[in-house]
Amino acid sequence: MSEDNIGITVLGSGSSGNCTIIQYGGTAIMVDAGFSARETQRRLQLAGLEGLRINAILVTHEHDDHVKGLRVCAKTLDAPIFASMKCAQKMRCKDERLRQMATFAPGGTFDIGSITVCPFSIPHDASDPVAFSFICGNRKIAIATDIGYASSMVEYQLRECTALVLESNHDLDMLAASSRPWHLKQRIMSRQGHLSNEASAQLLADVASDCTRNVILAHISRECNKEKIAFDRAQQCLQNIDRPDIVLQVAHQNRPIETLWC
Ligand SMILES: [Zn+2]
Ligand SMILES: [Zn+2]
Repeated sequence: MSEDNIGITVLGSGSSGNCTIIQYGGTAIMVDAGFSARETQRRLQLAGLEGLRINAILVTHEHDDHVKGLRVCAKTLDAPIFASMKCAQKMRCKDERLRQMATFAPGGTFDIGSITVCPFSIPHDASDPVAFSFICGNRKIAIATDIGYASSMVEYQLRECTALVLESNHDLDMLAASSRPWHLKQRIMSRQGHLSNEASAQLLADVASDCTRNVILAHISRECNKEKIAFDRAQQCLQNIDRPDIVLQVAHQNRPIETLWC
């Protein structure tokens, strides 16, 4: 693929593990390492990315589904880890064998090779959690999951993106009807939890811009959602805002998507 193209490969997404690879201009970044190192290698291979040099691993927050494989992945891939200061402290408390991490301040930007990384604060029950937008040449993409609600910061950062990876976590009726304990239901629905299909579709309607071409729905709950329900809700929203041209797809928990080149 041409050096000008941006590649997005969601190796897997959901409460059992999250990991996405971004490629642009000869630079490759891993966002989160929520699968074991062995499973991550298996998925890289499935996606045709085995042997890809990963220049950095960025961490959104310290929940297990985002960092389970972090220590070993960083070692085997020989890649530096980047996290917010509080997230890095929290992770080192849990596992002091984690190698030295570079820290960033949410709201700032820094370069990794050809990609400018913009971490921004999100409302979620973790230590200074972030999502990321990435500037690749004159285009922008973003990965935003584990968001309690669409804060104005989130809305701002997701505007003008060529491609978006966006959480569409749960269907409210399925969540209400699920066997989950009440405190967990409350946590998921809270302003520090996760975006419902409804909230995700609304956010998508608010941020879809003239330059937006692709949307990948992610972090789909296995118990309280279905890929088809999330897809249909977002598709309906794109129809409503007269943007049926935006290509919509859903990331899976169990297998990588084919790399999206945009
Ligand atoms: Zn998560
Ligand atoms: Zn989380």
